[in-house]
Amino acid sequence: MRQNYLVFGQPLLEQPEIDEVLACMKSAWLGTGPKAAEFERRVAAYKGVPFAVGLNSCTAGLHLACVVLGLQPGDEVITTPMTFCATVNAIVHAGATPVLADVDPVTMNLDPAQVRKKVTKKTKALLPVHFAGRACDMDALMAIARDHDLKVIEDCAHAIETEYRGKKAGTIGDLGCFSFYSTKNIVTGEGGMVLTRDERLAKRVKMMGLHGMSADAWKRFTDDGYKHYDVEEVGFKYNMMDLQAAIGMHQITRIEQYWQRRLQIWTRYMREFADLPLGLPAALPTDERHALHLFTILVDKARCGISRDEMLMRLHKQNIGTGVHYRAIPGMSVYQRRFGWKPSDCPNALHIGDRTLSLPLTAKLTDADVTDVITAVRQALRK
Ligand SMILES: *Cc1c(COP(=O)(O)O)cnc(C)c1O
Repeated sequence: MRQNYLVFGQPLLEQPEIDEVLACMKSAWLGTGPKAAEFERRVAAYKGVPFAVGLNSCTAGLHLACVVLGLQPGDEVITTPMTFCATVNAIVHAGATPVLADVDPVTMNLDPAQVRKKVTKKTKALLPVHFAGRACDMDALMAIARDHDLKVIEDCAHAIETEYRGKKAGTIGDLGCFSFYSTKNIVTGEGGMVLTRDERLAKRVKMMGLHGMSADAWKRFTDDGYKHYDVEEVGFKYNMMDLQAAIGMHQITRIEQYWQRRLQIWTRYMREFADLPLGLPAALPTDERHALHLFTILVDKARCGISRDEMLMRLHKQNIGTGVHYRAIPGMSVYQRRFGWKPSDCPNALHIGDRTLSLPLTAKLTDADVTDVITAVRQALRK
């Protein structure tokens, strides 16, 4: 058994970002400033969009996206039950009503046919999540949006590298929201970004993310000298710090290298698990780029002899940390109380949510770490 605990989702942090954080500390400019602007430029260039606004989380980005699209109480937003609670909470915080459509059992992404069934006169937006880094069927979702005049917010927390039929995830809908949380493909610790091709939306995201103060109010403490600002709207405090951007601006330069490393690990897992009774991720699509954020296995008790939770415990006892992405959203008590949702509303999400387990998949893993994961999974199934 391995000596030290393999923490799930550990990022690889390298010398350039360590040096940049120290430089940031020594400059004593910690808050939003030139490094945040540089990180925004680098992400925008990588994704090929004109506008990017750095924020303190993807959750903040999802909330602001709902706000700047003008969602109102009574408006409905269709989203997926196979996501992190932040996706649904953002809709609720904006005052709108979340509506769930079930996922496709193979891709685990929103099923456009289910989405179409949930559209009502009140529907104002779609909020697809590119689950695990696999692109949603955006042609079908954008067609629904066109037919019913809906806005589209893409939750790209897993999907920074994702491409769909030549288009980059997060640039297909009106706004794309990205996460740089510690376990994501590119990290700043906590952090997020909203991307858009619409300058007006970008300006409103920026303003609403900094109290609703007039443009560039953060410059009020720079050597340009103090300038008065106006408060134009009642906004939020969601801006990204330079201290965060100091990490991200170097991480983004290694995005392809890290993706290639995760592809090696992914390929090895697929090969080594091929003979086991586990459900493995669907084959990688050929006309799309998968961001390879989560490697999820399905542990079905009837086939494996043990439940997902038993597998999780056995791996834990072998010093392997895993994650669960996700127990289906309608199983969470707050949504049951508030919206009357039942797990049986989304049978595909329920089926996945009760069986899914995410194995370590970051560029920090050594070949020996990957061997330990494979050995522990095989052993757990033998007992
Ligand atoms: C991580 C995650 C979020 C939230 O990101 P934060 O940056 O932690 O706010 C939202 N949606 C999905 C699908 C996520 O995985």
